[in-house]
Amino acid sequence: MTSTTNPLLDTSGLPRFDEIRVEHIEPALRTLIPALEVDLAALDATARPTWEDLIEPLERLQDRLRYTWGVVGHLMGVKNCDALRAVYERVQPDVVSFSIRVGQSETIYENARAMRNGDVWHGLDPGQQRIVETLVRDAELAGVGLRGAARDRFNAIQLELANLSTQFSNHVLDATKGFALALDARADIEGLPRSLLDLAAQSARGSGRPDATAEAGPWRITLDAPSVMPFLEHSTRRDLREKLYRAYVSRASTGETDNTPLIDRILALRHEMAALLGYASYSDMSLASKMAPDIATVEGLLEELRLASFDAAQHDLDDLRTFATEAGAVEGDDLRHWDIAYWAERLRERRFAYGEEELRPYFPMPHVLDGLFALAHRLFGVRIAAADGTAPVWHPDVRFFEVRDESGAKIAAFYLDPYSRPAEKRGGAWMDDCVGRTRLAPTTDGPVRLPVAHLVCNGTPPVDGRPSLMTFNEVETLFHEFGHGLQHMLTRVDHGLAAGINNIEWDAVELPSQFMENWLYHRDTLIGLTAHVDTGAPLPDALFQKIHAARTFRAGSAMLRQLYFASIDMALHRGPLAAGQGSPFDIQRRIAEKTTVLPPLPEDRFLCGFTHIFAGGYAAGYYSYKWAEVLSADAFGAFEEAGLDDERAMAETGRRYRETVLALGGSRSPMEVFEAFRGRQPKPDALLRHAGLTGGGAR
Ligand code: ZN
Repeated sequence: MTSTTNPLLDTSGLPRFDEIRVEHIEPALRTLIPALEVDLAALDATARPTWEDLIEPLERLQDRLRYTWGVVGHLMGVKNCDALRAVYERVQPDVVSFSIRVGQSETIYENARAMRNGDVWHGLDPGQQRIVETLVRDAELAGVGLRGAARDRFNAIQLELANLSTQFSNHVLDATKGFALALDARADIEGLPRSLLDLAAQSARGSGRPDATAEAGPWRITLDAPSVMPFLEHSTRRDLREKLYRAYVSRASTGETDNTPLIDRILALRHEMAALLGYASYSDMSLASKMAPDIATVEGLLEELRLASFDAAQHDLDDLRTFATEAGAVEGDDLRHWDIAYWAERLRERRFAYGEEELRPYFPMPHVLDGLFALAHRLFGVRIAAADGTAPVWHPDVRFFEVRDESGAKIAAFYLDPYSRPAEKRGGAWMDDCVGRTRLAPTTDGPVRLPVAHLVCNGTPPVDGRPSLMTFNEVETLFHEFGHGLQHMLTRVDHGLAAGINNIEWDAVELPSQFMENWLYHRDTLIGLTAHVDTGAPLPDALFQKIHAARTFRAGSAMLRQLYFASIDMALHRGPLAAGQGSPFDIQRRIAEKTTVLPPLPEDRFLCGFTHIFAGGYAAGYYSYKWAEVLSADAFGAFEEAGLDDERAMAETGRRYRETVLALGGSRSPMEVFEAFRGRQPKPDALLRHAGLTGGGAR
């Protein structure tokens, strides 16, 4: 099959999502990999320690693989099905082995080292130097220094780990799909908001009850986030909340989808891999390529934040207990896990007199997008416009947008896949690059290929002909992913290997995403996003004031929860589990003693659904969220200091942010980029101030 007949091999433009079928995948990879093998052999034969003879051919080769394999990975996330999984599992080993061969090529490694140590070095720009340095470091992390049996073992581990992480994620997906709370009596749905009833009826219709309606049921509550979260917040039925909560925290921990043995195996293999490379632990190995210098610095930050949030979290819990007791609820004295979200939501309503659901009608997605694009224009001078129909998409709900600069020149584009589709789409939200900016793949548009991003969310779908009405949380998620997208799209780096989010240390990558979330607490920006779906009225100022006040509501609890996850992750990867240390779940419980105020249930198996560290890239790196939050809050602090309502100052600070954080990508070290924007090193003060946690642990 040639590239003209197999759309997956056509790299001339954007992926032909309308033509690509599961049956194209295997033939495409069976053609591509051998072709790339030939290129790699040629590179091995002709490589010299120069940019043109080493880095450029390497980038070309990696880009071709990334293009095709990226489409397959993308479809696994947004169009998952049994046939796709089967073929993915069949071809993945070849892709992984090829990547390992590239990463372990001694020719590439030796030439990169020769570049670093030779005269050619001084002729490279700083971005090029960073690319070469990363190449050397990553080759070392990929085992280039290993010989014989050690290298064979290292490679076998990598293959097995790739396979295990796919299995882990599939188990979570299956377990999520495999559980549903089927409700058919009015008494079962007491307290539930209309939006959830709509969704629950829609879900019932999708599983063999075509007669289901929001008014009359039956209703189907699933473990998918847009279903389980509002249910726990609103259902007055404590028994059903308990049932759902227990199902949620024990997801993928029994039967055919049990992830317990996978966790043990993954951890053991990671430790073995780190040891082969000479690291004391997988955590040490992970930090070798991070912005954070060492484990002690990471643990120091986690502890500093824990001290600032623990008492506040304890206070939050006492508050809730008192509130529930005063409300005359029996559970007041005996507040359990499945009561927390429910009573927190009641307390939020009482204290701030609004509920998540009350906000929804003000956030119709089309209006939110307009407001978001207006903000991007104000701060960064870019114009974003819908260009639906100009690029093929994988689902009719997917939108396509173009980004232009002030001169009208097109600089980037992105897809937006906004809504939850539990049957085929992975939960959560993410930004991925579809294609990146590079000078090596000129297009009909100009001398560089322009970056195109995938923004994928799992928001509430439109129901009954109305637009998607977003929760505040969903708006926040959209801003977050858009922030990642901006860094991918507004890059000014033309070396593909350091453009956009490429070559950025993992723990610095969340800076631009979390940065964007801050804008939701700026009055004019937030109000600009809103228009009531029925009346068109903007969000009333009083409601904004409440949202603003509510920002610090339970902030200590929220922070402590993230510290709990980050600390478990660090602990699990600090060394092989020694005899007497018990299982990963024992470690979880020990960490919980210091980082939770309500210890997890004995049967809590949340680790079995912790895809971030077992099926994603956050292993010994979950702390990155907090690390980057320090950076992002501090970056936003620069805007606050300049004056958020001063248009000129915003444009000025925004342009500086664009030219540093958003433009430099991985062409400079993250500390250098941060200092270029902020004029100094980062401090956690702004983060604690935003969370209302200043004052040494007291409230
Ligand atoms: Zn993110």
